[in-house]
Amino acid sequence: MRKITIIGGGQSGLQLGIGLLAKGYRVKMVQDRTPEQIADGKVLSSQCQFNATLEHERALGIEFWGDTCPPVEGISFSVPHPEQAGAKALEWAARLDKPAQSVDQRLKMPRWIEEFTRLGGELVIATADIASMEADARTSDLVIVASGKGEVGKLFERDAERSPFDAPQRALALTYVHGMTPREEYSAVSFNLIPGVGEYFVFPALTKSGPCEIMVFEGVPGGPMDCWKEVKTPSDHLATSKGLLEKFLPWEAARCQNIELTDANGMLAGRFPPTVRKPIGTLPSGAKVLGLGDAVCLNDPITGQGANNAGKAAAVYLSAILEHGDRPFDEAFMQATFDQFWDYAQWVVRWTNMMLLPPPPFVLNIMGAAQVLPGLAKRITNGFDDPRDFFPWFADESAANDYLTSLEAA
Ligand SMILES: Cc1cc2nc3c(=O)[nH]c(=O)nc-3n(C[C@H](O)[C@H](O)[C@H](O)COP(=O)(O)OP(=O)(O)OC[C@H]3O[C@@H](n4cnc5c(N)ncnc54)[C@H](O)[C@@H]3O)c2cc1C
Repeated sequence: MRKITIIGGGQSGLQLGIGLLAKGYRVKMVQDRTPEQIADGKVLSSQCQFNATLEHERALGIEFWGDTCPPVEGISFSVPHPEQAGAKALEWAARLDKPAQSVDQRLKMPRWIEEFTRLGGELVIATADIASMEADARTSDLVIVASGKGEVGKLFERDAERSPFDAPQRALALTYVHGMTPREEYSAVSFNLIPGVGEYFVFPALTKSGPCEIMVFEGVPGGPMDCWKEVKTPSDHLATSKGLLEKFLPWEAARCQNIELTDANGMLAGRFPPTVRKPIGTLPSGAKVLGLGDAVCLNDPITGQGANNAGKAAAVYLSAILEHGDRPFDEAFMQATFDQFWDYAQWVVRWTNMMLLPPPPFVLNIMGAAQVLPGLAKRITNGFDDPRDFFPWFADESAANDYLTSLEAA
C-alpha cells in the first residue's frame, strides 16, 4: 500500500488526505495545531467557497454543512460617489447560478480531522521541520507540503516571474459578527470598492455560534483603511470596523446598527505579499517534496479565491496520484502535477493581481456597463466560480471593447 505524508491539515491537505484514504492509501498527516486549538483559536479566513470547489467536497462526502450554512446567492458591487456624500456612483448585483458558502475553518477543520482519523489516517500533532521531513521522505512514497502561510513553505523558492509583488498589497482585517441586517432580496457577497482607500466586502457564513456575517476589509497600504496596527482589543476592533463603514460606506454602516462580535476570537488583522513558488522543494539529502495550496500559490483575499484554489489543487493532485499507480513519484510527476493545476490557477492569479492595482479605464467601463447589462453582471458574478471566464475580455482593452460592443448590439 502506498504511503503519502502530508504536512499541514488545512483546506488542501485534509481534502487530499481524506480523498487518498478513501482510495486505500496510507496517509500520515503532520499538523501543528490540535482540533481543539483550531476551534478555540482566532478566525483564519473568510473562506467563501463557490460551487465548483464545494462539488469536490461533495464528491468526497465531506461537505457537511449544506443544511446549516446560510447560502451566498449572489454578488453585488458598489462604488461610492466621489462628490455626493452617501450616494453611489455605481451599483449592480446578480445571482450566482449555484450558491456559495462559507464555513468558519475553526468548525470545518476539526470536523475534517475527525473524518481523517475515522477513515484510518495517522494524525501526528507536531510542527514539521526539515529534519522531520527528511525522515518522512525516507519512509513515504511522497511528501506533500500543504502548510499554508507556515514558515516551512519557505523551502520552496519564490517564482519571481509569477509573483509581480514583493510586498503586501493590502492591510487585511476580518470581523465576524452577529446581528447584521440582511441584504434585501437575496443574500450576496456585497463588494464595495472605495478608490484609493481599498475594498470592503461582507457575506453570510456559519461560525461556531451559528449563522453570522463576515466583514472583510482590504486597505490600501498607508491609506485610511490601513488602521489595524494600534487596534488591540475585540471591542476596539469592532468599533474600528463600524467607524470605517460610517466614514466611507454609509449604506453598509446602516446594516450594522446592532452588530456584535461572534466571539472574542472572531477577528483578525494582518498582511502578506501574494506569492507563487516553485512547486518542488529539495531537502538537504536531495529528497524532493511537492508543495500544495497556499504554500506554493498564495493570493491576496481580494477575490476570495484562496480556499477555492486550495480545494481545486487538492482535487487535481488526488487524480494525478491515483492515475500514477505504482510508478515512482519523481520530479517529473511533481512538476507535471503542479503544471496541471497551474493551467487553471494562472488565470486566478492574474485576475486577482489585476484587482489589486488601480483599474484601467476599460475595466471601469466594464464594471459600469454591468449596471445596464444584466447578462454582463451575471457573467462577472459567476466568474468568481471559474475566473478563466474573465479572459481575455477583462484583461485586454481591445477584447473588452469588442465584447461590450457585441453585448450592446445584442
Ligand atoms: C483574511 C483572509 C480572508 C480570506 N478569505 C477567503 C475567501 O473568502 N475565499 C477563499 O477561497 N479563500 C479565502 N482566504 C484564503 C484561504 O483561507 C486559504 O487560501 C486556504 O485556507 C489555503 O488552504 P491551504 O490548505 O493551502 O492552507 P491552510 O488552510 O492555511 O492550512 C495550512 C495548515 O498547515 C498547518 N501548518 C503550517 N505550518 C506547519 C508545520 N510546519 N507543520 C505542521 N503543520 C503546519 C497550519 O496550522 C494549517 O492548519 C482568505 C485568507 C485570509 C487571510
